[in-house]
Amino acid sequence: MDQKQDALFSVSGKVVAITGAAGVIYGAIARGLAARGAKLALLDLLGDKAQEAADGIRAEGGEAIGVACNVLDTDSIAPALDTIIKSFGRVDVLINGAGGNRPGASVPRDGVFTDLSLEEVDKVFALNYKGTFLPTQIFCKYFAKQGKGIIVNTSSMCSFAPLTNVPGYSNAKAAVTNFTQWLAVQVKVDYPEADIRVNEIAPGFLDTTQNHRLLFEEDDKTLTPRGHSIIANTPLGRFGDPKELLGPIVLLISDAGSFLHGVTIAVDGGFAIYSGVGPLDEKR
Ligand code: NAD
Repeated sequence: MDQKQDALFSVSGKVVAITGAAGVIYGAIARGLAARGAKLALLDLLGDKAQEAADGIRAEGGEAIGVACNVLDTDSIAPALDTIIKSFGRVDVLINGAGGNRPGASVPRDGVFTDLSLEEVDKVFALNYKGTFLPTQIFCKYFAKQGKGIIVNTSSMCSFAPLTNVPGYSNAKAAVTNFTQWLAVQVKVDYPEADIRVNEIAPGFLDTTQNHRLLFEEDDKTLTPRGHSIIANTPLGRFGDPKELLGPIVLLISDAGSFLHGVTIAVDGGFAIYSGVGPLDEKR
């Protein structure tokens, strides 16, 4: 690759704040970005784990800090932003990665929708939606003053079509996608002079330690019925790896993505665009 092409995709020197960075996906992304010269601020409710992850990056020669931060609390996010600015002098990118489901917000195996506790569903909705909205508000104010900034949200396959059993998670991720699109316009209404870009990544089904048992039987080779149904509906015919999100994120936060605004990149092996009708499922 010649130097000009290299610069197009460069993230070197960029200060990137990631929420939920002590988790599986964004821990891997943080290491990948640090290896490419980005300066990482790892924000997580679990401050110790964020610190450990930052220590790991520094041990490999990268630049990183770990910051305890609750994405549901303005009084926690604002000081986290101050800490990043004190450490690195500025922030260029916010990646909203904190999110997830809770067992209590899933329709129980032997139950039905009407058994669900609204309180649990509310908590999941809040983590995924409010936990994206609030950090974005606080960082956006800063980006507007700075004159530029990049925001990347995290949705899911259930942003496009809801997944069975998880209404709070599905509803919230759909709302995150809607928010990404809404904000992409609103930032230009509110801050016409600032160069703020807003996009989103929608991870597909990944084989991570956390959900491996949902996808594979105990022998580690045979698919569970859920695993089988995912593969049968994924044109690429396999699960993804968190590392495969790195390229799309680099695209979104580098100059290579300078005209991408309000888009969702599905990193899913084609799951989201397959109708489910046709020969794929018969052959798998
Ligand atoms: P994970 O559970 O490994 O990581 C989530 C992190 O968020 C954890 O470190 C947790 O401590 C942190 N967190 C939780 N509540 C928080 C709060 N209030 N404030 C700050 N941090 C908080 O999850 P993951 O699998 O790495 O997923 C990362 C993102 O990708 C989530 O938004 C998830 O919904 C989304 N996603 C994951 C998958 C998948 O297959 N794993 C698929 C689609 C989308």
